Amino acid sequence: MSVPKKALLVICDGLGDRPCKELANKTPLEAAKKPNLNALAKDGACGIMSPLGAGIRAGSDTAHLSIFGYNIKRYYLGRGPLEALGLKMQLQQGDIAFRANLATVDKKGVIIDRRAGRIDNSEPFAELLNGMEIKGIKFIIKAGTAHRLALVMRGKGLSPNISDSDPHKEGIKPLEIKPLDDSKEAAFTAKVLNEFLAKAHKILAGHKLNKERKKQGLMEANFVLTRGAGVFKRIPSFEERFRMKACCIAGAGLYKGIARFIGMDVLDVEGATGKANTNINAKISKAIEALGEYDFVFVHIKGCDVFGHDGNAKGKREFIERIDSALKPLLKLKDVLVIITADHSTPCCMKDHSGDAVPVLLRGPGVRTDDVTEFTERACAKGYYRFDKGMELMNEILNLMNKAELVGS
Ligand code: ZN
Ligand code: ZN
Repeated sequence: MSVPKKALLVICDGLGDRPCKELANKTPLEAAKKPNLNALAKDGACGIMSPLGAGIRAGSDTAHLSIFGYNIKRYYLGRGPLEALGLKMQLQQGDIAFRANLATVDKKGVIIDRRAGRIDNSEPFAELLNGMEIKGIKFIIKAGTAHRLALVMRGKGLSPNISDSDPHKEGIKPLEIKPLDDSKEAAFTAKVLNEFLAKAHKILAGHKLNKERKKQGLMEANFVLTRGAGVFKRIPSFEERFRMKACCIAGAGLYKGIARFIGMDVLDVEGATGKANTNINAKISKAIEALGEYDFVFVHIKGCDVFGHDGNAKGKREFIERIDSALKPLLKLKDVLVIITADHSTPCCMKDHSGDAVPVLLRGPGVRTDDVTEFTERACAKGYYRFDKGMELMNEILNLMNKAELVGS
């Protein structure tokens, strides 16, 4: 029996679901027409997976790390560094990184819009604040899409153990950053960041860019809300650990950031947006092309999660049908180990992530076939595989590719 030399992992974010009323009590995956996914399931072996453990509600960041074989207790350092890496920021050991928003506060300092009217270009505002130094700490700030920013604090004596300034709601003032432990580093970091946010507000509030926005009837971008502090550390790369050259094809910044964090190359694909309008066909053809150069190709498709959060079961079903038709070329890949799964379930009835297991499908040379002929939550639960941690999937991938280490002698 031949051994697959290459692997293609497709993660459909938030794919798993629960029975939906609008779909006659079927899940979107059950209700969708998906001849290609079913053919792959029939040809391979299926199962279910709980990336962080049975019943545990996973975030996308932790679930992906776990699926890539990284123990999150050791390697998850917070969302901030992953977002910053997603924006191609060059991080240094010990940097503290945050997700941030441009927001609007009124004259009393009360938040009236957490997203500054979903401002379409935050870059000139980021430029105004970038490079500021306070007490030897440098602030590096980069614009993401719309109101989103990434903020990095660089210097000595910093700690990620501080609270958010973003209260996640409007009608109140931004929260004061507080240390979350008794260390002098946490106290210092909180103090310096509070000072930065106050200075940033002063610079932004009086600036002509905001006067211009006001004239146009737009919300002023006059405050920076921070959250998700994390410290950046270099960790062993995917290639060092698993001896596979790996790449990532994704639209949304977070997934590119996770890939960069573990040393995967990030390939750009035209039309990959990380939203429901993404060009799935272009991503899949890029992935097949990348199998020439890379041993392990990861494709991330975000749409299902977006429809799940919106509670749009029919939209999710249609998006699954679009994924299915884009996956048709995978049927021709005979020597490649193809893995199709999700990072977590995002049931439409919950509009959020749940701890329900996700379906998983492995197909390629050497994979034991089972009796599952349909790629659905229900059918996969009767399949050969059951992964109680995301990392177990990586173990099985290594096993099927003859790269697993022998335990004992
Ligand atoms: Zn996710
Ligand atoms: Zn989500």
